Amino acid sequence: MVEEITKKDIRKLKLEELKSFFAGKGDKPFRGQQVYEWLWQKSAKDFDQMTNLSLQTRELLKEHFVINHIKVDKMQRSNDGTIKNAVMLHDGLVVESVLIPTEKRITACVSSQVGCSLACKFCATARLKRMRNLSADEIYDQIVAIRDQAELFFNRPLTNIVFMGMGEPLLNYNNVLEAIHKVTDQKGLGMAWKRITVSTVGVAKMIKKIADDKVKFNLAVSLHSAINKTRSSIMPINDSTPLEELGDAMKHWYQQTKRKVTYEYVVWKGINDKEEDARALLKFAQLIPSKVNIIEYNNIDDPAFQQASPDALRMYQELLEANGITTRIRMSRGKDIDAACGQLANK
Ligand code: SAH
Repeated sequence: MVEEITKKDIRKLKLEELKSFFAGKGDKPFRGQQVYEWLWQKSAKDFDQMTNLSLQTRELLKEHFVINHIKVDKMQRSNDGTIKNAVMLHDGLVVESVLIPTEKRITACVSSQVGCSLACKFCATARLKRMRNLSADEIYDQIVAIRDQAELFFNRPLTNIVFMGMGEPLLNYNNVLEAIHKVTDQKGLGMAWKRITVSTVGVAKMIKKIADDKVKFNLAVSLHSAINKTRSSIMPINDSTPLEELGDAMKHWYQQTKRKVTYEYVVWKGINDKEEDARALLKFAQLIPSKVNIIEYNNIDDPAFQQASPDALRMYQELLEANGITTRIRMSRGKDIDAACGQLANK
């Protein structure tokens, strides 16, 4: 196994580097192009799959490289069609990814980190220690695996990607962005940027950075309360990044990108189900053009958190809609297999 460790993960090489590897071995640089296509268009997991290369070339590759591909270790299917994958990484760690089918869409919900460092009180993933960031390839592989499942089980193409699995994508931004580049690249999956949504707990500094980068994916921010005291009590990030700072980041986002943001919001009994909570959300949502997704709470066995009443949800929706803010109430999918938002915890 010592040998395995000294070999380089071939997918860390850019196309140009692959070409010069072959040139350095006295072969045609075109081989680099062929290998690149096997890796990124055909998702080869093994050098022996690269059947248009000679045996000798495949041996050469095996001598120098490994392919650190993920492996779908276990797959569970919910009675609503949702599929949850336990994804085994090359070092034995496990993350989860979810395929969510609806009438019009097939969405891949993918993880960006092993575990999470943010400690949101209502989220099951927060109970797992953050072990490491996923590499761009490990993120990309999750998407490819779900694309293949969409074709196999539904005979439909993958239409959307959401970074709402385990981890905080903006704390692993470089790798997330690299994976998105491969997903959108014509030499990769050729998906449109507008089909991709990155969801963040609200890392203000990073929101400003991606605004400056003028990224073309959609941004969702997990708000859950627009009152500092309440938000701090359920999301520790709010202590270091209070709402004023988050609000400034949102204004910067809009100035730079001219794009709407989506706020994700769960309403809990006795925590944020009063009219003053809804009014605070309205005020925050009005800072820039935005829409609100009220998401159903998925139980993670903590008596402090209980889904608010339908009346409370309606109160929120009516107030926001009356003030011109599109508000959807979203019911969860895959609850019976712990595949819904906030339930991913490698159970
Ligand atoms: N770290 C990112 C993405 C992961 S969570 C983020 O915070 O946005 C994806 C969404 O699920 C977030 O909006 C999160 O707040 C929400 N969520 C977490 N736990 C939940 C639960 N138990 N029920 C419903 N939604 C939950």
